[in-house]
Amino acid sequence: MSARLIDGKAVAAEIRTRIAGEVASFLARTGKVPHLAAVLVGDDPASAVYVRNKQTACEKAGLKSTLHRLSVTTTTEQLLELIAQLNADPDTHGILVQLPLPAQIDSQHVLDAVTPLKDVDCFHAENVGLMVQGRPRFLPCTPSGCQQLLIHAAVETAGKHAVVLGRSEIVGKPMAMLLVQKGQAADATVTICHSRTQNLAEIVKQADIIIAAIGKPQFVTANMVKPGATVIDVGINRVGDKLVGDVDFDAVKEIAGAITPVPGGVGPMTIAMLLQNTLRAAQIQVGASQT
Ligand code: NDP
Repeated sequence: MSARLIDGKAVAAEIRTRIAGEVASFLARTGKVPHLAAVLVGDDPASAVYVRNKQTACEKAGLKSTLHRLSVTTTTEQLLELIAQLNADPDTHGILVQLPLPAQIDSQHVLDAVTPLKDVDCFHAENVGLMVQGRPRFLPCTPSGCQQLLIHAAVETAGKHAVVLGRSEIVGKPMAMLLVQKGQAADATVTICHSRTQNLAEIVKQADIIIAAIGKPQFVTANMVKPGATVIDVGINRVGDKLVGDVDFDAVKEIAGAITPVPGGVGPMTIAMLLQNTLRAAQIQVGASQT
């Protein structure tokens, strides 16, 4: 039997339409347009495409976006200077530093320097801490995008076994933290697997929900999937001229109950959640300055 397809592109479009309405009423109420500053260092073509897609999505939803493009030889100090300017600018509500940064830059130092109120990627320790404690200021974009897909597809998560493949700060760890919270698309029993995990295939096979975020093309094969499981594929891997996920889609869709495609699954959701966070950042900052 073939799995139900979870169409991230369609869900993201619905969310972006809702956000556009909220941006319009925010503007009518405050006279302000939520404004995202995107920082792109160097000339990595994939990063340039990601940033362009984020900017286009902002503009379509009525948010303002400004690109700050810096040369590949930028130093940590120069980048910190720009971050300080953006932190201090009352008309900039969100700051996005596109990763990866060139090797000479101390990425952690730069991400730590973004003021938590403008940290729309939810990378800052203060925002991660609030999220882990179940009182989020922002939700991490890719994991919350996955959670929205589970909600949209009406996947039962309470008491279910969710296996997250990958433990990065951007996807794996925050994903596991969201799934283990109390509430909607959460309350799961969560296992995190990584490159040192033993018997990984056996663990994945026990999952009711699999979130694959390891960056290895078609790593999750059909024999690792329990019949009827929900499979969310975060991976984006270029193989020749094709983009493929971390899941062997064609084989796994015959076993799974529901599955996201790549492209058109998690990717568009990440962008929708970034817009959501930028609007929220503007609401927090403008609200604070008006009280
Ligand atoms: P990282 O490289 O930062 O992390 C990969 C994780 O996978 C690590 O925890 C690593 O373990 C684990 N891992 C690697 N190989 C194996 C293996 N053979 N078995 C088990 N675990 C393994 O990647 P990201 O989290 O940033 O991204 C993961 C994927 O998601 C990539 O394809 C990326 O392009 C994609 N991505 C997609 C987004 C979207 O919007 N759709 C957004 C962000 C990322 P260890 O920690 O032990 O090294």
